[in-house]
Amino acid sequence: MPENPTVPRAEIVVDLDAVRHNVGRLREIASAERPVAMMTVVKADGYGHGMLPVARAAREAGAEWLGVATLDEALALRAGGDTGRVLCWLTVPGEDYAAAVAADVDLTAYSVAELDEIAAAVDGTPARVQVKVDTGLSRGGAARADWEAVLSRAAELEAAGTIRFTGLWSHLACADEPAHPANDAQESAFRDALALADRLGLAPEVVHLANSAAAVLRPSARFGLVRCGIASYGLDPAPGHTGDLGLRPAMTVRARLALTKPVGAGAGVSYGHTWVAPEDTTLGVVPVGYADGVLRHAGNAVSVWVDGVQRPVRGRVCMDQLVVDLGGELPPAGTEAVLFGPGDAGEPTAQEWAEACGTISYEIVSRVGGRMRRRHTGEGER
Ligand SMILES: *Cc1c(COP(=O)(O)O)cnc(C)c1O
Repeated sequence: MPENPTVPRAEIVVDLDAVRHNVGRLREIASAERPVAMMTVVKADGYGHGMLPVARAAREAGAEWLGVATLDEALALRAGGDTGRVLCWLTVPGEDYAAAVAADVDLTAYSVAELDEIAAAVDGTPARVQVKVDTGLSRGGAARADWEAVLSRAAELEAAGTIRFTGLWSHLACADEPAHPANDAQESAFRDALALADRLGLAPEVVHLANSAAAVLRPSARFGLVRCGIASYGLDPAPGHTGDLGLRPAMTVRARLALTKPVGAGAGVSYGHTWVAPEDTTLGVVPVGYADGVLRHAGNAVSVWVDGVQRPVRGRVCMDQLVVDLGGELPPAGTEAVLFGPGDAGEPTAQEWAEACGTISYEIVSRVGGRMRRRHTGEGER
């Protein structure tokens, strides 16, 4: 039986007005010097925000492109009714490239073998294909020694009418550290790849290098399109380097206390008794745990907002629950506990959680889920 919808045990609330605002704001920032197209990256279920509602909000805010990692994600966008340009960039041999072509998805190829496999799946309509070159991340993308072979093959397939070469792109390793020398080196390598493509007679429809951090901090990396993920969700893409970008965090995670109770000095809390009450206090049981995507590292590290005060998590995060120190207050069971949110009311932010857990906000928001419900506000508005 569904729970009473008015009192969920735990829920993720996603503000689609904030997503629309952020996409518009990022366009303003990235197009300050010259207009560039916007790709909103909605992989990993929209960084935990819900891929389809976020995709709709991004389109409403003018995103010309959506970006996803896997082909399954791209096809899910189509199944959900999205008809705009969609780029996916992480496939393995044997993927259903025919389905991708039929769904008008832009694929990304890293190798000659991948181009050939895509070409073999073409039956009439040419496949839209972009080539990704590795300019120094040493992850996906054609190794420099293979650029010429891959781009030459793309040119042949395009001349044969088998593919349409829709883009050339790469990805930065250190965009969130704007002074890191790898940024200049990668951009320079990318310009070499563009020159090579030009020499081979290729005219990519879009050329792109920048993720959120580079879109905001590195005008020279914007080219014709920027791929914005984390900043679209209102989170800082380069903490310590950005100043106020005017973004609004879209996700709030809240739960209702299952129990509150006093404990005496010396009481050990949660598994392993990694925290022992130094004096008499009161505790609240929050009914979410690591199976709901709350990192176990949050134990003894983060705070949760209860009745207008940030209360520290004590002891280990368990599979289904965690414990907060209410400092002598004894609010009733059912009282709201906000794990993180935009921060406007004084609740912790995903960025604060990330710092406390030794990770990045991306991991905090993309992991949260499990048995929590997700609810969207601002749906269908413009
Ligand atoms: C995830 C991803 C992005 C988005 O990065 P953000 O830092 O979240 O803006 C852009 N490009 C590629 C290739 C990605 O994998």
